[in-house]
Amino acid sequence: MPQALAASTWPFGTAASAPRKISLVYAGGIRNGADVAKALAMGADAVAIGQGVLIALGCNSETYVRGGEHVPALDDYARLGTAPGFCHHCHTGKCPVGIATQDAELEMRLEPAVGAKRLKNYLKTVTMELTTIARACGKQDVHHLEKEDLVALTVEAAAMAGVPLAGTSWIPGAAPPQRP
Ligand code: SF4
Repeated sequence: MPQALAASTWPFGTAASAPRKISLVYAGGIRNGADVAKALAMGADAVAIGQGVLIALGCNSETYVRGGEHVPALDDYARLGTAPGFCHHCHTGKCPVGIATQDAELEMRLEPAVGAKRLKNYLKTVTMELTTIARACGKQDVHHLEKEDLVALTVEAAAMAGVPLAGTSWIPGAAPPQRP
């Protein structure tokens, strides 16, 4: 389910609502700090990141690192019938950059120290983006983000998510507020 749609159909309330007996972990489409902020604002307690981590590790990269040198992997992509930026061949076990494989030779293309540094940089950047957004919303804790902090950048997203269009209080399709 797209994040925007989830915002309007989330059945458990926002993070600021009453305590729950279960924890919600949002997964799917998390790429950066803004995506995490949206998920937390919608009520998630945590997020799981999949593809973003793979990309950070070097998935779909033209090269892999060996001994500090970048080694081209274009021929290996070609042998799989694909190219960097278009690979989705994890199921073959022949990952050209050594991530999705159990082949001893290919595994060596992902040096643990290199992967750890890339992953650290990625997660640190995501965290910095997230805390910056929370601060911009006046929150001291990222878990204090709530649905009221969300706005949409397009009319379509505003209608789907049930949140106001940015710069307005208009929620397309929502009943106008009743006058007392
Ligand atoms: S095999 Fe999978 S992990 Fe490896 S480059 Fe292709 S898509 Fe990325």
